[in-house]
Amino acid sequence: MARVAIVTGGTRGIGEAISLALKAQGRTVVANYGGNDDAAKRFADQNGIPVFKWDVGDHQACIDGCARVTEEVGPVDIVVNNAGITRDGTLARMSYDDWHDVMRINLGGCFNMAKACFPGMVERGWGRIVNIGSINGQAGQYGQVNYAAAKSGIHGFTKALAQEGAKKGVTVNAIAPGYIDTDMVAAVPAPVLEKIVAKIPVGRLGQADEIARGVVFLTSDEGGFVTGSTMSINGGQHMY
Ligand code: NDP
Repeated sequence: MARVAIVTGGTRGIGEAISLALKAQGRTVVANYGGNDDAAKRFADQNGIPVFKWDVGDHQACIDGCARVTEEVGPVDIVVNNAGITRDGTLARMSYDDWHDVMRINLGGCFNMAKACFPGMVERGWGRIVNIGSINGQAGQYGQVNYAAAKSGIHGFTKALAQEGAKKGVTVNAIAPGYIDTDMVAAVPAPVLEKIVAKIPVGRLGQADEIARGVVFLTSDEGGFVTGSTMSINGGQHMY
């Protein structure tokens, strides 16, 4: 039986590429999303991958959503915590809500999904969790204290949970993407983006598939000796 994979935020951008790559690898893929019904419908119609809507920042919604996936599709063996948002601004301009929303969704989402799926993986003796961090969680970024803190937290979360899963056949890893050509990066003002691209040694933005290939490796059977690691896929922008 094909292993079941949930990709959060799996209907757009990097998540869409991850969902497609895992499907091509032979996984039974389920894509979660948060609010954009049109994008989710287009994705489901085009790719035949079922979509499930819930807010990964809502603990109970994750528990209930994953229970529904288990019932309708099967027990979840692979979780890719990809859903994420930005609410950028300098500290002076950042509201408490901007801080809290980013922590709740980007970091809280990883906890909520792990609470829902990790125990079953341990019980069955096989599991893979990949958390999508960021270069800005490794290096920091002006105007992103919320996002950098949440993504940096993801890297710590990954290393701690990896230790709990190691003897049980469950690996937990992170990927820290650099700047990838998606809607999230399209929101960065053009002059700022030009300066960012100028600092990327390979001289271009990354593509969503380039992150997806990392996920395919980390969730494979052959990836079983890799746990607690962070794979940086950033065109050489930050060597960590
Ligand atoms: P996009 O903004 O293009 O897509 C975000 C996805 O996350 C969407 O599917 C969205 O769903 C989903 N999402 C957002 N909030 C929630 C929520 N509360 N519950 C469930 N799903 C939610 O982002 P990217 O593809 O660019 O980024 C994907 C991940 O990669 C993020 O974690 C981001 O921080 C990280 N990353 C991105 C980089 C980049 O350069 N693009 C660089 C480094 C890291 P919906 O469609 O319903 O809105």
